[in-house]
Amino acid sequence: MPHRLAVVVPTPAHSSVGGPLSYLSELPLAPGTLVRVPLAKREVLGVVWDPSSTVGPQDVSRAERLVAAAFDSVPPLSRTWRQLVTFSATYYQRSLGEIALAALPPQLRELSAKQFARRLKPSAAQPQAATRRDGLALTPEQREVLASFDAAPGPFLLFGATGSGKTEVYLQAVQRLLDRDAQAQALVMVPEINLTPQLQERFVARFGADQVVAMNSAMTPLQRLKSWLAAHGGAARIVLGTRMAVFASMPRLRLLIVDEEHDPSYKQQEGARYSARDLAVYRGKLEGAKVLLGSATPSLESWHAAERGRYRRLLMASRVGQGDSHGAAGAAAAPAFPSVRLVDMNLHPRHTVFSPPLLEAIRQRIGRGEQSLVFLNRRGYAPVLACTACDWKSECPHCSAYRVFHKIDRSLRCHHCGLAERVPRACPECGNVDIAPLGRGTERLEEHLAELLADVRQPNGDAVRIARMDADSTRLKGALEQQLARVHAGDVEVLVGTQMVTKGHDFRRITLVAALNADSALFSSDFRAPERLFSLLMQAAGRAGRDAAQARASEMWVQTWHPRHPLFDALRRHDYPAFAARQLEERAQAGMPPFGFQALVRAEARSQEAAQAFLRAAAAAAAELAAAAHVTLYSAVPMGLQRLANVERAQMLVESASRGALQRFLAAWQPVLHATREKGLLRWAVDVDPLAI
Ligand code: ADP
Ligand code: ZN
Ligand code: ZN
Repeated sequence: MPHRLAVVVPTPAHSSVGGPLSYLSELPLAPGTLVRVPLAKREVLGVVWDPSSTVGPQDVSRAERLVAAAFDSVPPLSRTWRQLVTFSATYYQRSLGEIALAALPPQLRELSAKQFARRLKPSAAQPQAATRRDGLALTPEQREVLASFDAAPGPFLLFGATGSGKTEVYLQAVQRLLDRDAQAQALVMVPEINLTPQLQERFVARFGADQVVAMNSAMTPLQRLKSWLAAHGGAARIVLGTRMAVFASMPRLRLLIVDEEHDPSYKQQEGARYSARDLAVYRGKLEGAKVLLGSATPSLESWHAAERGRYRRLLMASRVGQGDSHGAAGAAAAPAFPSVRLVDMNLHPRHTVFSPPLLEAIRQRIGRGEQSLVFLNRRGYAPVLACTACDWKSECPHCSAYRVFHKIDRSLRCHHCGLAERVPRACPECGNVDIAPLGRGTERLEEHLAELLADVRQPNGDAVRIARMDADSTRLKGALEQQLARVHAGDVEVLVGTQMVTKGHDFRRITLVAALNADSALFSSDFRAPERLFSLLMQAAGRAGRDAAQARASEMWVQTWHPRHPLFDALRRHDYPAFAARQLEERAQAGMPPFGFQALVRAEARSQEAAQAFLRAAAAAAAELAAAAHVTLYSAVPMGLQRLANVERAQMLVESASRGALQRFLAAWQPVLHATREKGLLRWAVDVDPLAI
């Protein structure tokens, strides 16, 4: 008598199969077992699900097929892992199969059970005995934070200034956990892949290479499989990863740390649009594990949760002092925060790039043998190339955006669809050979700065070295590490870069940070723009003066057309709480998150009209549902980037004062959306708790 099993399989996002399918198996298989099963004409990886789960609606009439093979050398995925997947699928309105399969290493999908057993003997489930080096002597603030952390269940929000030593708190929180529990595992997440190498180094140095595995999309499929197996088997005690790691299978997970928890990269922007930070909090609850979110500029959602007492706030207000041989530096030795200098650009000629006082300040730093960091959030040479005789501009033929001029290979590249072409010799419209760059990106900034500093010398008489760090300069493997090493070694006087350089790095010799052109965010239609700008500037300021010996004179320069904007007032005082209080007040009045809850439905179609018509039809069909649920549906509007790769995009905002009401409405709306037809519609997706509107 064969056993009937519910199996989660990779269902296409647009089929309405949301749940598991049923299969037959000769042997009873425990929920969580990895299997290969036939699906249509293929054989796919699946996960045996809990027997109580309802099977997909299209499945009833389907002849039940047999499970092809079970990966019996791999222990089943745990109940809490399955609960996490189920919650994510429900909350973010995706199918179980999509979330479950995306959470597994891609190589698992390709190997047959036999190949798998042959290829990789799973590592022994015995956790490695920890061989670890002692941590630093803690500062009083760190000690207090760790004591509070030990004393309560959390979740915790570590509000720690830049340079206050949050990483050491993470290290020692993990250390205490591993000391207490010989099998416990910890998950540490960082927002960006390029922050993982340095963190990994510190964790490996402290805990040994066999204890720590990484999980991010830059790893090879085989590396990812190995990391996954080590975590799943319990041999790896610490997983360091980007947002995808929130789904790592860790049977003894006891601690989750989310560093730079405010960072938008924790929100997945395609497919299942989940927030890894929010899921980490949820997972902590499921697993009975502690959760520690850390930031110098917390997200307003987390800050609000701390104000309400839902999160326990831990505070580290001062920077760690250097030069004290005992490490535990007294407040007197702690480096100060950089002073903020605003340059009113209204007082300078219109096209000024570096105001004279800023340039002078950079020159002085060079003269003193110190480093400066200049950041501009735009890569390439110039954002637009334009004909001087007619109206031609370097528009992307496929997107509603300009192609960016990259001088290094004389290309025009669309940063949205990737289209790259050589710069035309003459204007394609009128034949004029005089086509000129408009505006500037980091590449041009670097060139311009080199000219401005051509006559400046280092104290030893050598010429000034300028380095650029952005997505272009770090594309090659190892390039980022090499560039960072140059900065750390002092082989660079001025570092130019995009926001990539402002995050997380522990630069010791930078005493001046300058933000050019930050203003545009102030008047964006996105209500989160001020929050993002403030944290960007605070984080950037956080790269300056991290060494006590130089900190007194460290400065953060901001060139702005709106120096009286209240945001700068808070920035000048390094007063995140004041900034947050003000923003939260505005949000409360407007019913915006975290006081209201939102979702976006995005539609893509051959024409803008079709995309909007789909949204309107789906909204009309749900009007009563929405009214009953106290959910507001706004008008369908074109997305900010309206056309991408020849696809027209539109969106509709859905809002409610209650998270539960919004969730119930979205669940009820799903079948309506599925049933709504519109000629020319390509796809649609729901984004719950969207970060960009
Ligand atoms: P944050 O992440 O809060 O910006 P970091 O964790 O990078 O700060 O710490 C800033 C610097 O202080 C690092 O160079 C770190 O090694 C050092 N540091 C942290 N804690 C201590 C300590 N207890 N004693 C000495 N140095 C410390
Ligand atoms: Zn022209
Ligand atoms: Zn394009």
